[in-house]
Amino acid sequence: MNNSVINVAIDGPAGAGKSTVSRAAAKSIGFIYVDTGALYRAVGVNALRMGIDTKDKAAVAESLKDISVDLVFENGEQKVLLNGENVSVEIRTPPASMAASDVSAVPEVRAFLFDLQRDIAARNNCVMDGRDIGTVVLPDAKVKIFLTASPEERAMRRYKELIEKGTQVEYKDVLEELIQRDYNDSHREIAPLKPAQDSVMLDTTGMSLEESVNEIIRIIKEKM
Ligand code: C5P
Repeated sequence: MNNSVINVAIDGPAGAGKSTVSRAAAKSIGFIYVDTGALYRAVGVNALRMGIDTKDKAAVAESLKDISVDLVFENGEQKVLLNGENVSVEIRTPPASMAASDVSAVPEVRAFLFDLQRDIAARNNCVMDGRDIGTVVLPDAKVKIFLTASPEERAMRRYKELIEKGTQVEYKDVLEELIQRDYNDSHREIAPLKPAQDSVMLDTTGMSLEESVNEIIRIIKEKM
């Protein structure tokens, strides 16, 4: 591991604004931003394409045999490649979110994606977001933040985001899906969603995006 590299780990539940604030914070401090959820989403999309039941752990583990998942960075923007194909848009649909949550509970999937995440962090100053970055992937990260907000506020943010992109959804379905994903992510046996002991907790309920970003940057600068 290159000791001069600085890693910032940001974990938290779905829709806490991790990706938006992490991206903005990374840009402000000149680090790359790594969205690890995209990796689980790519594995989920692959399973959906193959017509696999994403809750069938053995079938999901088997599906990894013939695939490659990679992250590339162009002008600081991350793209996720599934077998060399850019699937960055396809991974954002609600079925892909649910599939990602299902496949992320499969130990073989987590092992499959582990080295990729570690390698990027070892080579780059980065802000990496996910569910287990501070606890499992980068336990030695210099800065660890656990970002959260109330389920209703997170669902409303996600709902607005989807509507803006032209996806037809109902708020109550988004809330229901988010609560289900929170439950899955925090109750799975392997790498469950939980704050690292040495993480700083930040609850952004009632905070604007700008306030959340400023607070994150303040915490990072203080720790660095
Ligand atoms: O962050 P995002 O919502 O894109 O993540 C999609 C799903 O991938 C999550 O619901 C979670 O189940 C899984 N995930 C994970 N570990 C990570 C990042 C995401 O298990 N580090």
